[in-house]
Amino acid sequence: MKQMFINGQWTHASSQAAADVTNPATGEVVDQVPYAGRAEARAAVEAAHAAFPGWSRLSAEERAEYLRKIYRLIVEHADHLAEVMTLEQGKPFEEARGEVLWGADFMLWYAEEARRVYGEMIPASRPTQRILVQRQPVGVVAAITPWNFPSSMITRKLAPALAVGCTVVVKPAPETPLSAIALFELFEQAGLPKGVVNLVTGDSQEIGREFLENDKVRKISFTGSTQVGKYLIEQSAAQVKKLSLELGGHAPYIVFEDADLDAAVEGLVFNKFQNGGQTCICVNRIFVHESIAAAFSEKLTSKIAELRIGNGMEPGVQIGPLIHERALSKVAEHVEDALAKGAGLLCGGQRLLEGTFAQGYYYSPTVLTHVTEEMKIFHEETFGPVAPLIPFSSEEEVVQAANQTPYGLAAYFYTKDLARTMRVSEQLEYGMIGINESALGYVQAPFGGVKQSGMGREGGRHGIDDFLDYKYLNLNF
Ligand code: NAP
Repeated sequence: MKQMFINGQWTHASSQAAADVTNPATGEVVDQVPYAGRAEARAAVEAAHAAFPGWSRLSAEERAEYLRKIYRLIVEHADHLAEVMTLEQGKPFEEARGEVLWGADFMLWYAEEARRVYGEMIPASRPTQRILVQRQPVGVVAAITPWNFPSSMITRKLAPALAVGCTVVVKPAPETPLSAIALFELFEQAGLPKGVVNLVTGDSQEIGREFLENDKVRKISFTGSTQVGKYLIEQSAAQVKKLSLELGGHAPYIVFEDADLDAAVEGLVFNKFQNGGQTCICVNRIFVHESIAAAFSEKLTSKIAELRIGNGMEPGVQIGPLIHERALSKVAEHVEDALAKGAGLLCGGQRLLEGTFAQGYYYSPTVLTHVTEEMKIFHEETFGPVAPLIPFSSEEEVVQAANQTPYGLAAYFYTKDLARTMRVSEQLEYGMIGINESALGYVQAPFGGVKQSGMGREGGRHGIDDFLDYKYLNLNF
């Protein structure tokens, strides 16, 4: 059984309670982690609070050196971290390794950014005055992370927080705490002072309540569903806590009549089936111009037929299982609803149950055609390997349909027309847009959404802002 990390010590829950971590490929229990509650969360917040003065007073260069050490350790242990991730989350080993290394890059990026937290001097109103603007770390940060990116969602929050001098308490998702623990083993090896980073696993309601009600927590950084994001907004109002929220999405993918069809198909297969379709920026509505719809679906289904599904630890596997039974049920519900309301099925459309698939949570890659507004899949995030195709006839109509959602995280379109590129990207109500491109997660770019997809940005120089407060000094001599 694994332990949590509080104030530089590995520890069990005070009640000794534990929770199982299950392999979604086999249904087997991989390990156990402490099932802690409010008391442990409070101890972690206290430790982070006690560590804050020392950590925030180090020079940026000293903190950067710790981040570089962590980067080197993650790269050195990438295979181990990837294996831990595949066993608890299901994504193929190579994909898990890619996530681990991408996550490590945030450490390196923010080690550099730490040294560029510049202030300002502003022309004052009187000759004896000087106006200075300083930027200071917000204080203790509580980070709540999801299961779909168990390593990089921790490092993407932790790296900017540590870089500017904040201290952190992390609560990982119950499905994937082992990746968090494996990272914390490396943070310990890097020699971070005690209390600077803390990890609490267990009852999310109880731990969340402590984060919300303890006034030593100055900021909550959350990645997860819009539903929980809204709850955190409401409940954090009492203490006016700073919030960063990376929430759900419902990405449109528009293929215009002048698009490079092969590139559009390839981009879609990568985006839609990476992580089994369980990513917040994955496409959920594919609008294809009616003049190319038949050619597009033919190319798409033949590419999908080449995908290899299976246990992520087997070499060559490209799609693993879904995370749990609930995820499978939601995917099946969306597909059944669409078929009952008149959608066509080009491939897939079922849970896989033959042989070893029966022990895991596998769903076959699916393509639906003639999807309409009446269907659930048109409005709700599916979070699974289902590609719903929707024909369209005009640019105006498709932009309006693409914006017809409360979400605003990511959108994509394929065209060769530059004037259209500018017009459409200005009209799409999304925080991130891929144009002839279906990958968006880069360390140097500001990742995040508008509307009900959240607030704040992670990554890039922008990702550091949410961990800093402005302080303006008015000097009169
Ligand atoms: P979720 O149910 O919102 O859970 C996310 C995390 O919040 C988990 O650790 C969960 O723990 C915790 N949590 C739930 N209720 C809480 C509470 N009252 N107090 C404190 N913590 C609480 O989301 P999910 O199903 O794990 O993740 C999928 C969602 O995340 C999707 O909607 C996806 O689009 C979104 N996502 C967004 C981004 C982005 O960058 N925008 C990236 C990845 C994922 P428990 O499970 O124990 O409740």
